[in-house]
Amino acid sequence: MSTKVIQVPSSYIPAADALDGKTILVTGASNGIGKRAAISYAEHGATIALLSRSVEGLEKTYDEIIANSSREPLALPFDLARVDEDAYRELASLLASQCPQLDGLLLNAGTLGDRKPLSQYSWSQWQEVMQVNVSTNFLLLRELLPLLDAAPSASVVLTSSGVGRSGRAYWGAYAVSKFAVEGLSQVMASELENTSKIRCNCINPGAVNTAMRRAAYPAEPPSSNPDPEAILRSYLYLMDDVSMDQTGLSFDAQ
Ligand code: NDP
Repeated sequence: MSTKVIQVPSSYIPAADALDGKTILVTGASNGIGKRAAISYAEHGATIALLSRSVEGLEKTYDEIIANSSREPLALPFDLARVDEDAYRELASLLASQCPQLDGLLLNAGTLGDRKPLSQYSWSQWQEVMQVNVSTNFLLLRELLPLLDAAPSASVVLTSSGVGRSGRAYWGAYAVSKFAVEGLSQVMASELENTSKIRCNCINPGAVNTAMRRAAYPAEPPSSNPDPEAILRSYLYLMDDVSMDQTGLSFDAQ
């Protein structure tokens, strides 16, 4: 399978109750795109499990959700730089004890790492970026498959990047990790296509005004890129049952 990049149909307008009754886990929900996606999913009827490292960040997202919705989210503080497999098993068990099924999994958490030539890239930084951006997605996906399988139809969305489709100097482990994310999504989609009701796709948000973008491009005026709220249509589409037949694809949010 090669990367097939498409956009959400221009006619797609999410219904107010598009995600009613669904339970969706969002990683990287304390900030940036993940935070806004989680809030938007809740506004469209879903119950959200929020995962991030920062407890304070999770509390802020939690508070924004309960201010506008009667569905209380589940907050899961978790450091995705952790490498012990058992911690992921325990996380999946905790989630299973709270929710009978998982209808959506937005694997959005990511870390930028150093922007420098590979010749100067440190091993410890390489390992951390690959862990947070790739390995953790594999572990979460593997451990959560039974919960995803329990849903009538489930959507897994992994987060890619432009530098995950075309290599670029000085983007180091970040770029390599995003190529791997595209690969993980395709392999998983291909394995699940005829054996389950789970679909698996990638999304490239494009340039978005978040802490990560500002760190990557410190000289760029933040206002030159859209805020996360402006790119959420694709994120909604991929969790909405209207995308039920879409799998193994890579979407551009812009
Ligand atoms: P932000 O830096 O704003 O948010 C990153 C999120 O990931 C935070 O919630 C952060 O949580 C979480 N995270 C990072 N490290 C860990 C960790 N070790 N354990 C748990 N959570 C962690 O980034 P964006 O919103 O911009 O990025 C979201 C996704 O979009 C990423 O995968 C990124 O690669 C991708 N992307 C972004 C682009 C952009 O222009 N913004 C362009 C292309 C792709 P905490 O606050 O707890 O650290």
